[in-house]
Amino acid sequence: MSYFPLFLKSGKQSVLLVGDTVAATAKLRLLMEAGVAVTMVGEKAGASIRRAGVSVDSVSEPRIKTINRPFHEADLMGKSLVYIASDDQSEIDRVVTWSRLKKVPLNIVDNPAESDFITPAMLERGPVRIAFSTGGNAPVFARRLRAALESALPKNLGYIAASAGRLRHKIKSIIPSDTARRGFWDSLFDRAHEAAFTESDTDVLDAHITNLAAKITSSNTGLIQLVGAGPGDPELLTLKAHRALQQADIVIYDKLVSGDVIALARRDAEFIYVGKSKGDHGIGQDGINALLIKGACEGKRVVRLKAGDPMVFGRAGEEIDAARAAGVKVDIIPGITALAGVSAATQIPLTHRDHAQALTLVTGQLKDGDIQDFAGLASKGRTLAIYMGLTTAADIESKLLAHGLPSDLPLAIVENGTRTGERRFYGTLAGLAQLVESNRIQSPGIIIIGEVVALAADLVLDDVLKLAV
Ligand code: SAH
Repeated sequence: MSYFPLFLKSGKQSVLLVGDTVAATAKLRLLMEAGVAVTMVGEKAGASIRRAGVSVDSVSEPRIKTINRPFHEADLMGKSLVYIASDDQSEIDRVVTWSRLKKVPLNIVDNPAESDFITPAMLERGPVRIAFSTGGNAPVFARRLRAALESALPKNLGYIAASAGRLRHKIKSIIPSDTARRGFWDSLFDRAHEAAFTESDTDVLDAHITNLAAKITSSNTGLIQLVGAGPGDPELLTLKAHRALQQADIVIYDKLVSGDVIALARRDAEFIYVGKSKGDHGIGQDGINALLIKGACEGKRVVRLKAGDPMVFGRAGEEIDAARAAGVKVDIIPGITALAGVSAATQIPLTHRDHAQALTLVTGQLKDGDIQDFAGLASKGRTLAIYMGLTTAADIESKLLAHGLPSDLPLAIVENGTRTGERRFYGTLAGLAQLVESNRIQSPGIIIIGEVVALAADLVLDDVLKLAV
């Protein structure tokens, strides 16, 4: 069954509620809270709601009417919805027949199959309503979702949202730039947990918020964020990275950033691809720097998404320099570097005390197209992690062997670590280039070399299996 969600203006609805059961009073309470006019019919309608402690005094609740008799078709007159919470099957059948005839959508409590609509689970934060449903399929999931939403959305969000409604025009005149204003409200929602926003005295809260707005000038809101996108699996993003993506005006990304991560960015942000493909250097680092600074100078929040961690082989240094030179604020949000993703995927403990006392991250390619001098990097008790080393695998292999590393030293290569299509390969130092070539291993891939590789789950479990045979 599929549903189309919508929000009805509660003040305009007049709803018929049939039945005098406990479920009927529960629905009455819900509808009353939403400010809907309700007519409740049922032999003991009046008594059942008094018993439930609901006040239906016609003076205090003029929108609630009770009729103490069974359903009559005339009750449907002028009603936009019907809820049936009766325990009398013949009465239910009559209401269903007449509602269908008069084309009034109906809901039968605990009977979604026969209902035209269902009432979703709801969460309220001031004027904000969140409604959700699993279509009756997974109540446990709905409970978990509610718990997650409750904890993710501090109660104060409601106060701020209500204040945003009241102050809409005032704040617009204080902060005319759309981008800056959005940044301002965003920053308030970020700070919703602060005590100052707990204020339920609306005048005090409004004054506080107006004050904060007065301190903002549109010129200082432009910001560059260098954000670590992690190795690919979007679940490996940090909460900060996720928030930055949701608040971005511009997202600048390249080839290695996974599509699943980009999909989490604010939908109406501007997306700019600055990837290089082989032989084509794209717009180059200078071009990227210029884009970053231009966006920030326009008062925008510019997110520069980088695979893994921005500070590890990510050219963050060059972008930070450019931002500083232009006087633009730059923030770094760390990410899980490819090596961390890959060591988790393979379960290689990079610095297992019995096998390795150092971990070295190196690049297989240098700026001028040359490759590392591995002297000093390669020796016993060291784990070597090589980024960007696939194309120079043959040189790496011969240099490391020349520096005296044993030819049977174990190594792993992980292609597309943590992403769909991840492939893991194992071998020994003397077979490095051969391993890359015969399996046509493609970028992105990381090479891990060292005794610790022998502890990889694939190898250990393989051995266990072999022993068992
Ligand atoms: N800043 C990034 C590294 C960028 S350099 C980080 O911290 O991870 C690009 C290199 O990173 C690739 O050539 C490859 O060696 C490695 N890499 C990035 N993502 C990877 C992935 N999902 N799996 C394996 N290696 C990856």
